[in-house]
Amino acid sequence: MKTYRIAAIPGDGIGNEVIPAGIEVLEALAAKQGFALAFEHFDWSSKRYLETGAYIPEGGLEKLKTFDAIFFGAVGAAEVPDHISLWGLRLPICQGFDQYANVRPARVLPGVQSPLRDGAALDWVIIRENSEGEYSGSGGRVHRGLPEEVATETSVFTRRGVERIHRFAFELARGRAKKHLTLVTKSNAQRHGMVLWDEIFFEVAKDYPGVRWDRELVDAMTTRMVLKPASIDTVVASNLHADILSDLAAALSGSLGIAPTANLNPERTFPSMFEPIHGSAFDITGKGIANPLATFWTASMMLEHLGEARAAARLMQAIEAVTAEGVLTPDLGGVHDTRAVTNAVKRALD
Ligand code: NAD
Ligand code: MN
Repeated sequence: MKTYRIAAIPGDGIGNEVIPAGIEVLEALAAKQGFALAFEHFDWSSKRYLETGAYIPEGGLEKLKTFDAIFFGAVGAAEVPDHISLWGLRLPICQGFDQYANVRPARVLPGVQSPLRDGAALDWVIIRENSEGEYSGSGGRVHRGLPEEVATETSVFTRRGVERIHRFAFELARGRAKKHLTLVTKSNAQRHGMVLWDEIFFEVAKDYPGVRWDRELVDAMTTRMVLKPASIDTVVASNLHADILSDLAAALSGSLGIAPTANLNPERTFPSMFEPIHGSAFDITGKGIANPLATFWTASMMLEHLGEARAAARLMQAIEAVTAEGVLTPDLGGVHDTRAVTNAVKRALD
């Protein structure tokens, strides 16, 4: 039997609630579809950091490289500054494994209420540059604590990095029904990196005559997402812009608790990582009410990436059957808990 080796990293907070739920659903599905998933559990978390001084133990990334995919929860804890946790665990994996294409679908699932008047029209894929831009880590701080203290945070845009994400976005847009791509930018105010970002987009566009495209400044994009959702199909944006726009997309599609993401290394030199876009959710941790649907949806994206398209589609159908039935957690206005939604999705697999 075909067996996929999956590294499971629940991390912090509700990661420890939604990842076990995801594994349960994936194992039930695999048994029905006739393949196997061998999960190995990694305790990489803020707890581990506080105990040992490291999120990732020595040799950890080397070991992680041997897996077919990574199934990740969230990282972030009240006791650790967020920049330490993010740079200690999630970014070393994204950057170290060159997972430069971050794919974030957003859609209003059946039975889910969008805050938008025209919510039914919301069916988007946001593609986030995931290796450089505003999150390159370039910068520094001098004269700490003194009146002349200075900090810089330099956005880095490279021709190679920009070209590959635009190409990826055009390829993805070409495969969708509307074949439309929106370039998000801020090249009016940011006249170096963002201008290069735009120029390379226009160059790459010439190779994709079948894809219609337009360009939107990031501030205007927020209003367009709210007021004209049907005018948007596929979106490509920088690391920071897409980070913000995709949380907005999640809220407009009902809740942060349903939004999935895939951190892809398209060349498959390294394993790709699949996670819900939400974080540790301190306010609901331990209450048993975290919405597991984002994790199930990202599990479906993981199966698609592994080449199990039929299983991926079956899982999406089960998720949609459960939302249509109204088995929803409180973030979606429902009264059900993580356990009940997980059980319902497992039942709906049949
Ligand atoms: P968050 O996503 O943890 O929570 C934002 C809000 O959404 C909260 O009210 C939360 O209860 C709600 N929410 C999130 N996921 C939910 C779910 N599955 N079901 C129901 N409700 C859900 O974002 P935050 O509060 O900005 O960050 C909390 C911590 O998580 C911080 O330490 C932050 O750095 C970290 N974080 C990590 C990641 C990641 O690991 N990829 C992403 C975002 C934030
Ligand atoms: Mn984010």
